[in-house]
Amino acid sequence: MKTLISKKIRVYGVVQGVGFRPFVYRLANEHKLKGWVLNTSSSVEIEVEGEEESIKRFICDLQSKFPPIARIEKIEIEDSILNNYQDFFIRESKEDLGYQLISPDIAVCEDCLKELFNPKDRRYRYPFINCTNCGPRFTIIKDIPYDRKNTTMAKFKMCDACEREYNDPLDRRFHAQPNACPICGPKLWIEGVESEDPIRETIKLLKEGFIIAIKGLGGFHLTCDATNSKVVKLLRERKKRGYKPFAVMMKDLDTVKRYCYVSSEEEKLLKSPQSPIVLLRIKSLNDISKEVAPNNNYLGIMLPYTPLHHILLREIGLPLIMTSGNISEEPICQDNKEALDRLKGIADYFLLNNRDIYSRYDDSVVFVFENKLQMIRRARGYAPSPIKLPFKIRQTLACGGELKNTFCLTKDNYAFISQHIGDLENIETLEHFVNTIELYKRLFRVEPEVIACDMHPDYLSTRYALQFEETLPIVRVQHHHAHIVSCMADNSITEPVIGIAFDGSGYGIDGNIWGGEVFIADYDSFIRKAHLEYLPMPGGELAIRKPYRLAIGYLYSIFKKVPNLSFLDKVSDKEIKVIKEQIEKGINTPLTSSVGRLFDAISSILNICNEATYEGQPAIELEMAIENINSEEYYNYKIEKDNNTYIVKIKPLLEEVLDDIGRIPRSNISVKFHNTVARIIVDLSILIRDETKISRVALSGGCFQNRILLEKSVDLLKKEKFKVYIHSDIPCNDGGISLGQAIIGGRIGS
Ligand code: ZN
Ligand code: ZN
Ligand code: FE
Repeated sequence: MKTLISKKIRVYGVVQGVGFRPFVYRLANEHKLKGWVLNTSSSVEIEVEGEEESIKRFICDLQSKFPPIARIEKIEIEDSILNNYQDFFIRESKEDLGYQLISPDIAVCEDCLKELFNPKDRRYRYPFINCTNCGPRFTIIKDIPYDRKNTTMAKFKMCDACEREYNDPLDRRFHAQPNACPICGPKLWIEGVESEDPIRETIKLLKEGFIIAIKGLGGFHLTCDATNSKVVKLLRERKKRGYKPFAVMMKDLDTVKRYCYVSSEEEKLLKSPQSPIVLLRIKSLNDISKEVAPNNNYLGIMLPYTPLHHILLREIGLPLIMTSGNISEEPICQDNKEALDRLKGIADYFLLNNRDIYSRYDDSVVFVFENKLQMIRRARGYAPSPIKLPFKIRQTLACGGELKNTFCLTKDNYAFISQHIGDLENIETLEHFVNTIELYKRLFRVEPEVIACDMHPDYLSTRYALQFEETLPIVRVQHHHAHIVSCMADNSITEPVIGIAFDGSGYGIDGNIWGGEVFIADYDSFIRKAHLEYLPMPGGELAIRKPYRLAIGYLYSIFKKVPNLSFLDKVSDKEIKVIKEQIEKGINTPLTSSVGRLFDAISSILNICNEATYEGQPAIELEMAIENINSEEYYNYKIEKDNNTYIVKIKPLLEEVLDDIGRIPRSNISVKFHNTVARIIVDLSILIRDETKISRVALSGGCFQNRILLEKSVDLLKKEKFKVYIHSDIPCNDGGISLGQAIIGGRIGS
């Protein structure tokens, strides 16, 4: 007889709610091992007994054959005493003091889709079908361990058939916490409309040109026919949404390819379990309304990711707008009552269900640059997966910025960046921010020892942080230092970099508004080596919404007069006079070195965009004006040295732009301008490398959402033999700064 041994194994990572225990169960039986497996708050624990060889093979398979959405971070193995178990079984979950990683929500899987469209299956056209490999996770979890009783599915008692699946270790729904069927699970209805088949009714209403609020995974979508200009316009009006593009959902990849160019990398992302909105270059709008993405060369496209989407899109045969169910700037609606209340002026009908959403979760937005993912908005499918840091860090709460807010909590060497929270400008968003912080603290068992925030005194996130002033150390982090550090962490580098932070606005340590900064930076500190010259923002925030104010301000402060250009046609003489006065007397006219604002000013001077109806519109439309990106022409500028700091002066640039207006097309002026900004980056990097011998350049800040600027800067830097680091998993915009804040704040004293 062979001798038996016993081993205790602990597996850490995304190992709960992903079919890990059934996988272990099957594996143990395959290798004829006895013992048990269970979930704890921190890990999956396994005890196996059997022959040494079998246990070896078992451990090997454990690390290589795990389920598709699981992620193993660490395995601990130790000897244990023999208990002579008679079989292998799954034990009840156990709570401990630990924490574990939680799976994001996952798009419906192929196996479930087959059942969904099989008329003989008991879940035929059942919009809540899911299994251990797919479906809601993060949006329904209230606490750990991830068991049904800790989710919003607790109120649905499983029927016998579902219960059998749930308890059968060989079933693909074994311990699938959201398991449900038409008998026992959540149900759909259209508010106020009697209907046997609410999905068919919804399709009928959409075809008739109505706007429907549809409850989804992490909140509500406002949905309408993307080919019907009248309803798209109406949605814009009701949602108060200006020109910001709407996302479109299409039935399948073949459909997407009729409208957009799709690379293999983009294809992979569209079909991934995360199913984000991917920004794709438009081939032809065909029947899609121009109102969907005015003045834009890209469409934000996603494929169906819930069973409900699949049924809808397959049966309606039209591309549908799916935009967050909110009024501009407010967070996405979460529960039925809230939606009925807040969206009553926007949606004509409501397709509701009775599965509660515990945490709001917007669609993620990405694009692909040089075959690499570029995150614009990080939420569904990505959060709350942590970023792994190259070091351990104190437990820190970083409160993030004001626009596109995310916060970040750290523990050990993990940084848990929240899903996109939104613009912290109103009570609803602030509440969402506060509640989500509490949820993350609970789920990941974090008790912050330090709080980090921006230096801007008026950010609501800063004010939130300062509430804890009495009890915890507060670290106020400079906005662009946070940007650069988040880019460093996104690339897991630890050596100092030349950090290019070209951004909208961020509070500078001299009280001015920064945003065209070049630093020598590491995780602990920065030296400001260069910046764009300070220029006036007459009216402050108002100048961001009305970029002609910036245009007038820049021209007037540099030339002492404003040449007569067509962008001034719609500005009254009185307002021009007021702006000049504001500049002369310095009334409500902060100074800024922001490159984002320079883009705004140029966009207005070229009469491309004089009023921003959404953040970044002037710069985006300036980029979209470019027809031929291959031009290498550029404008002149001057770099002056002042006390060891390089200042970029733009008088020559503006002179030459004014010269070009009316002489060459705006498209050419725009490309020359983009080339110029890229050359400024390279020139400054060379000057600083000569001084410091640092040749790593990190690019961060909202300006790098501009693909043409990103491409041109990376190209030029590589030609000059720099090692270039750009963002990928973390947004280069303000959605990424919480990570930088957390690292800078958390490292102090740890
Ligand atoms: Zn599935
Ligand atoms: Zn059932
Ligand atoms: Fe920023």
